[in-house]
Amino acid sequence: MSAEKILATSALPYANGDIHLGHLVEYIQTDIWVRFRKMQGRECYYVCADDTHGTPIMLRAEKEGITPEALIERVHAEHVRDFAGFHIGFDCYHSTNSPENRALAREIYLRLKNAGLIEVRTIQQFYDPVKSMFLPDRFIKGECPKCGAKDQYGDNCEVCGAAYAPTDLKNPYSAISGAVPVLRDSEHYFFKLGQAENFLRQWTRAGHLQEEAANKMAEWFGQGLQSWDISRDAPYFGFEIPDAPGKYFYVWLDAPIGYMASFKKLADEKSLDFDAWWGADSGAELHHFIGKDILYFHALFWPAMLQHAGYRTPTRIYAHGFLTVDGAKMSKSRGTFITARSYLDAGLDPEWLRYYFAAKLNGTMEDIDLNLEDFVARVNSDLVGKFVNIASRCAGFINKRFQGQLSAELPPSNLLAKFNGEELWRRIGRLYGDREYGKAIREIMALVDEVNQYIDAEKPWELAKLEIDDLRLHQVCSLCLNFFWRLSVLLKPVLPALADEVQGFLNLDASRMKWGQFNALPAGHGIRSYNHLMTRIDRKQIDALLEANRQSLAAAPSPVRHAEHQQHMENKAIAPIAETISIDDFAKIDLRIAKIVNAEHVEGAEKLLRLTLDIGEGKTRNVFAGIKSAYAPEQLVGRLTVMVANLAPRKMKFGLSEGMVLAASGDGPGLFILSPDAGARPGMRVK
Ligand SMILES: [Zn+2]
Repeated sequence: MSAEKILATSALPYANGDIHLGHLVEYIQTDIWVRFRKMQGRECYYVCADDTHGTPIMLRAEKEGITPEALIERVHAEHVRDFAGFHIGFDCYHSTNSPENRALAREIYLRLKNAGLIEVRTIQQFYDPVKSMFLPDRFIKGECPKCGAKDQYGDNCEVCGAAYAPTDLKNPYSAISGAVPVLRDSEHYFFKLGQAENFLRQWTRAGHLQEEAANKMAEWFGQGLQSWDISRDAPYFGFEIPDAPGKYFYVWLDAPIGYMASFKKLADEKSLDFDAWWGADSGAELHHFIGKDILYFHALFWPAMLQHAGYRTPTRIYAHGFLTVDGAKMSKSRGTFITARSYLDAGLDPEWLRYYFAAKLNGTMEDIDLNLEDFVARVNSDLVGKFVNIASRCAGFINKRFQGQLSAELPPSNLLAKFNGEELWRRIGRLYGDREYGKAIREIMALVDEVNQYIDAEKPWELAKLEIDDLRLHQVCSLCLNFFWRLSVLLKPVLPALADEVQGFLNLDASRMKWGQFNALPAGHGIRSYNHLMTRIDRKQIDALLEANRQSLAAAPSPVRHAEHQQHMENKAIAPIAETISIDDFAKIDLRIAKIVNAEHVEGAEKLLRLTLDIGEGKTRNVFAGIKSAYAPEQLVGRLTVMVANLAPRKMKFGLSEGMVLAASGDGPGLFILSPDAGARPGMRVK
């Protein structure tokens, strides 16, 4: 038996970019579940917030020349608007940069500290000498220490799933400046996760996780639970740690606390008892919907923090897979990296997507695929051709021939008995509750097919031609509208806006839209006139949507995201390969590692920077490089790069250029100078 009080959450989207269809898988999944629980009459709330702290927000605001507060306020408004567009029915959508969250983060930290679970240690951390800041894990890239995959982030590997410290990475580089980071000492605050190991070993096997997730946890236990670094050094956008000036809570400490903070705001507004939901002996249920990439934070750190700070722990954590489009990762160049806004702006119905995702979703961590051909076909066939068609085939006769009133009696029908029985509602209800939406949709569509078969057999359009069969026509159409209403209730978690329209046209009060409708509409019930409920998708609309997203790619490069998988851009066509040369030809080019000891603007030059390079000759060289569009001089000083050391000196308008630095470029914007891996020294030959 489930509790009456339920709190559900979706992961907090980072306040640094647009909501896209990949995000919407989770919000739609959660929203369907919450709507179903509310229809059952549970006291269920759905809260979420923007995740606003951390270095990416700070850097993005800096780049835009605004404060982080201004940035997150703007993004919050965009996110709220996009979610509303897809009928995501949050009871509270807050921000982690809120007074509630500040107070709760502080309190949880102090409780953990008092329990002896916080330790302070001096660690060596990567520091970007160009940008003058310590580098967060996500801004250090390198090779995975476990599987050797290249270009992995500093916290975990997207290829093999290993979690590690950034200092474990091989050949690290700064994702901000490209510089080779240096190790510096810094005092950091740690949550002693190892002390929660016994609790976590038991908790992760106590039915709170999907089995595949619990197995993943077991692997992590096998690797030993390291203390968790919860502090970051200034400059940082976040909450300062109590009694630790210049030290800030790591964004992942206060992000999940944001679930509590959002609920706190809701509780204050609605006079709910916060402790009845979050207190250690709370009888309420707490359900977190997340992506499988953030399981580690939600299934280890979060329950351990809650447990040891004296709060309740989650009832269930549901991890889902990622979205692919036409079987591949969402791709900006193919236009399949589709933003929520572009979808709505293209005039596409959000309920088409809700329906399609529901039809594809199940309770596992498998990825789900948005197949665009199938999307068009399924929406047109299931929703328009079959479901809405029931109403459009029957409502007109009731309105035109019977003054909008349903018949006094309904004809005997096995199908009606099915809708009136508890079994159907219990079975489909269980599927919704278990997040087996695909199965629920299949069951509902089988009922839709049965209703259409009944209509095909009774042929109301033929009955309408026979004057003597008015009664039969009246009863058949009344029965089918009874079916249509029940089907609309069954689909309401997925199609809330459509269900509202049905409620309006069938003239039903709200109690008729709750889960479990066992009684047919009363004799003579009056309906309103029928207007078409849903239109068909045209494939051209989808093509226009892809084109719009391809074009926005050129307009706006993607921001660096946090806690989210980066989209890897696939290779575009490259410039043709040059004519073959011999090894001797190549050997003529003397490439050397050069240290950029100085870089400065050149007065009157639009594209050039003057570089002073050291290749260990005991003197420096002066080189003009056409890289001003891509680099500020201060980003370059101290870096190592590669130069052509035996190029004949060239007399230029601004002086003598004694060599050339190498940089990569393509058709698109962007210019990238080369850097050697750590360990290379000025003067080393490149061959
Ligand atoms: Zn790996």
